[in-house]
Amino acid sequence: IDKIQEKVASDKVVFSFEFFPPKTEDGVENLFERMDRMVAHNPAFCDITWGAGGSTADLTLDIANRMQNTICVETMMHLTCTNMPVEKIDHALQTIKSNGIQNVLALRGDPPHGQDKFVQIQGGFACALDLVKHIRSAYGDYFGITVAGYPEGHPDTIGPDGVASNESYQSDLLYLKKKVDAGADLIITQLFYDTDMFLKFVNDCRQIGITCPIVPGIMPINNYKGFLRMTGFCKTKIPAEITAALEPIKDNEEAVKAYGIHLGAEMCKKILAHGIKTVHLYTLNMEKSALAILLNLGLIEESKISRSLPWRPPTNVFRV
Ligand code: FAD
Repeated sequence: IDKIQEKVASDKVVFSFEFFPPKTEDGVENLFERMDRMVAHNPAFCDITWGAGGSTADLTLDIANRMQNTICVETMMHLTCTNMPVEKIDHALQTIKSNGIQNVLALRGDPPHGQDKFVQIQGGFACALDLVKHIRSAYGDYFGITVAGYPEGHPDTIGPDGVASNESYQSDLLYLKKKVDAGADLIITQLFYDTDMFLKFVNDCRQIGITCPIVPGIMPINNYKGFLRMTGFCKTKIPAEITAALEPIKDNEEAVKAYGIHLGAEMCKKILAHGIKTVHLYTLNMEKSALAILLNLGLIEESKISRSLPWRPPTNVFRV
């Protein structure tokens, strides 16, 4: 099976890992070593992001190729419309096609650094829907297409009070359905920490006739400042109990990591109990927390965790 929607639609619980292109050559080599160790645990697929504003285009293409053909994991490449005339989009798609990659995450992208709003460039696309349509019309069924979903509403629609109005939430949902109707096979969500909100989102999608798999994007909390930065950028709701748990331990890095593993495992457990079969981990290129969560869930075996890893999973205190 080469398309990830078929892997995530099986009866088995599966997981996947997201990575981003490192800034230096050493970083890239380190990432491949780490990825190799993580792929030994048999993820359904791994994906590599497309740098904001198209800043990592060549590197993302190279990494995707190596993931598919050297690491030998089913690979999905992210692709955005920001600063991408259609020729560049086709160059990227042709390149991955010739490298045997069959999975794309089709995104609009954020505005480049220093810009507030996304602006469609001349000869480019205005939104992910346009990109999905293009991929289907130019490449038929060759690619499995994934699109982004936003359980709390897209950040553009979230007001100063931290929530999206019901009207914009509903129009986001209808737009998501358009992306699926235009040919997307799978939805991966933006990160969230309110699991009930994710489950409501899945329900709301089903109500309007979205039937494809909806995969939760889980970002383990690795570090307090990073968590605040990320949730601030994405305007993610932080449930009060998470703030209360983090506040007293925020200066203790190990305690924050251990809590992040505990929380990630609890979230996944609840989601899996509701019949969702896939968890997608935003690894931030780090292996420890992602593997510890999967270990806690019983989805990977401790004996397969590389001995060379200078770390062992935390004690049973946080086992679920
Ligand atoms: P779209 O689906 O086009 O939607 C953007 C917003 O505009 C939504 O609010 C939508 O409802 C609204 N909208 C657009 N067109 C219409 C329309 N016709 N009618 C009604 N509403 C409309 N960014 C990167 O730069 N690189 C990455 O690799 C990357 N990976 C990501 C992976 C995931 C899983 C997620 C969730 C996000 C990722 N992002 C990435 C961020 C993403 O690019 C931004 O969130 C971006 O602002 C929106 O992209 P989108 O594909 O969701 O846009």
